[in-house]
Amino acid sequence: LSTVLIVKDLWVKYFTSSGVINAVSGVSFSLSRGEMLAVVGESGSGKSTIGYALLNMVPKPGRIVKGEILLDGVNILKLSEEELRKIRGSKISIVFQDPFTTLDPLRKIRDQFIEFLMEHGIDKNNALKIAREYIEAVGLTERVLDSYPHQLSGGQKQRVSIAMAISLNPSVVVADEPTTALDVVVQKQIMDLISDIKRRYSSSFILITHDLALALERADSVMVMYGGYVMEMASKNELAKNMVHPYTKALFESLPRIKQRTLPKYLTGYPPDLRNPPPGCIFHPRCPFASEKCRIMKPELVEISKGHFVACHFAR
Ligand code: ATP
Ligand code: MG
Repeated sequence: LSTVLIVKDLWVKYFTSSGVINAVSGVSFSLSRGEMLAVVGESGSGKSTIGYALLNMVPKPGRIVKGEILLDGVNILKLSEEELRKIRGSKISIVFQDPFTTLDPLRKIRDQFIEFLMEHGIDKNNALKIAREYIEAVGLTERVLDSYPHQLSGGQKQRVSIAMAISLNPSVVVADEPTTALDVVVQKQIMDLISDIKRRYSSSFILITHDLALALERADSVMVMYGGYVMEMASKNELAKNMVHPYTKALFESLPRIKQRTLPKYLTGYPPDLRNPPPGCIFHPRCPFASEKCRIMKPELVEISKGHFVACHFAR
């Protein structure tokens, strides 16, 4: 399988007036064509920041302070604003939780979609053809093109965002909590659509979610984040049968389970203050197994078996 994306030692910080927030700390991973990688973690673990970084659009006061992001072999952190505008949407695109981030409420879908395509060098006739084709590909009818966003349901709007995100056949689609704002039935439909698109077009996805169960159900590989660090990373199959990091296990045990009679166990304590993270392992204040070593020494992310990485002193 060919590799479409390589992220090497990515560091992102927000320089706020009340201190420097270490949002992403030394994250590395790669993504193959047709693969879906889920980035999982609690609120504030740095998931969206990674998503923005992949398009080199970390919002102010944030900045990528170190790292390489190779998209089809090109380090996008070296590109000019002009070059970035060209690749955003065509080589890498993003679908947000709230479709209104992408859609202008005041303009018809048709005009927005065509304009988006024309900005990327497609002529008007072809743009209309492509818009029609992808509106159908996401299970909508052409009539949707004549609508304003407010005339569509949440699920329909998200389908439009997905249609735009895939319409230029990008190498990577980042989907940041694409179903969180939708009701449960529609959530499943949208995830089914994404799975279907992934199969049909061999698209590569970065699925950002706080839901480990969803990640294990849908993704090919999973990266578990905590406080800006990768705690564990493995293929879905490997992780499902062999969770090693105490944080991954805690996340898993906190999931509601229908078939079991036991209540989910909630993770006690709070995520770390990223202005002033704890020394040693960033998870140690909440870890039931933490030892003296964990309080002092930061564990490296080590490969405990092929393709299975864990950052824990007790991983082996
Ligand atoms: P959520 O699940 O809530 O979406 P997340 O995992 O996507 O969380 P991020 O939004 O990437 O997390 O945030 C990582 C850290 O960076 C958090 O501590 C957050 O407060 C901080 N942060 C994010 N955006 C900004 C910003 N624009 N300005 C300052 N700090 C920010
Ligand atoms: Mg987020």
